Amino acid sequence: MIKEIIMAKHHGFCMGVKRAINIAEETAEKSDEKVTILNEIVHNESVVEKFREQGVQQAFSVDDVEGGTLIISAHGIAPDVIRKAEEQGLKVIDATCPLVTRIYDIIVKAVEQGFHIIHYGEADHDETYGVVGYAPDKITVVSDKESLLALPDWKERKLGLTVQTTAHEKEFEEAEKLAVKKWPHIKVFNTICNATTKRQQAILELAPNVDMVLVVGSESSANSNRLAQISDGICGRGILISSVDDIKDEWFEDKYEKIGISAGASTPDYLVEAVIEKLVELSGGTANVVLPEKRTKIARVAR
Ligand code: SF4
Repeated sequence: MIKEIIMAKHHGFCMGVKRAINIAEETAEKSDEKVTILNEIVHNESVVEKFREQGVQQAFSVDDVEGGTLIISAHGIAPDVIRKAEEQGLKVIDATCPLVTRIYDIIVKAVEQGFHIIHYGEADHDETYGVVGYAPDKITVVSDKESLLALPDWKERKLGLTVQTTAHEKEFEEAEKLAVKKWPHIKVFNTICNATTKRQQAILELAPNVDMVLVVGSESSANSNRLAQISDGICGRGILISSVDDIKDEWFEDKYEKIGISAGASTPDYLVEAVIEKLVELSGGTANVVLPEKRTKIARVAR
C-alpha cells in the first residue's frame, strides 16, 4: 500500500523549455501566416500535441515547409538548416535554449583556435545534430566511454571535450577522467546545463529514501530517461512514464510504500499532478504527499 509520495526537490520545466514554449506561443498568436515548428518544440508529446491542436504545423525537414514562419526548437539546429530556410523565404524564429547556443559558441571559438572537438553525447539527438553542424569536419561524437577510448592517439592534435547539455553527470565525470588520462593536453568544457545538474542531484537525494521512483517524461526526452536510469540504479525501480495512463495498479505491492516522483525538464506540471492524484487515489486517499519546500500545493490534489 502506498504510504508516502515524495516529490524531487527539482523537477519539471527548465528555463530553456519555458522560454521555447513562450516564444512559440507568442509567435503563433501574433502571426497571420502559417507557423511551423521544426522538429519537436520540446521533447514532450503532450506539449507537441497542444501546439498541433492550436493549428501550429510541425515539420522534420525544411524541404517540407512551404512558407510562413519557421520556429527552431529548444534543442537548436545546424546553421546550414537556418540558411536554407532563409533562402526559401521563411521567416525564422529561433527558440534554441541559450545553454545550447553556448555550446555552439564554445565550439566555433575553439575550432578557430585550431582545436578538434570530441563531443560526448547521443549521436541521434536533435541537439547533437545542431552542435555537429557548427563544425562538421572538426567534431567527433562519442556516446560512451568505450567509443571515447577507441579514438586514435591524436598526440599532436589540440583537443577539446564538450558534452550534451542533458548528459548523465557521473558518467561524464568518468569519461572526462579517461579522456584526460588518454590526452593530458585535452581542454574540457563541461557543457551539461544547470537544470540537468539540479534534477539529477535531486534524484540522488530522493532515490535512496524511497522504494520506487516514477519519472514523468516522454521517451524522446534524454534528460527524463537519465533520471529514470539513475533512480533505477539507486532504489532498484525507476520507471519512465509519459503520463498517468502508463501507471499499472499492480506495480504497487506491499514493498512499495514510499514512491518518489520526478519529471524531465520538458514535462508540464499538469502531467505530474495527474500522477500524484492517481497515486493518492490508489492509496485510498491516505498517502502523505511531501512537496519540495518552494511548492506549497498541488493544484489538482485536494488535500
Ligand atoms: S535542459 Fe538545459 S539545455 Fe535543455 S532546454 Fe533545459 S536548460 Fe536548456
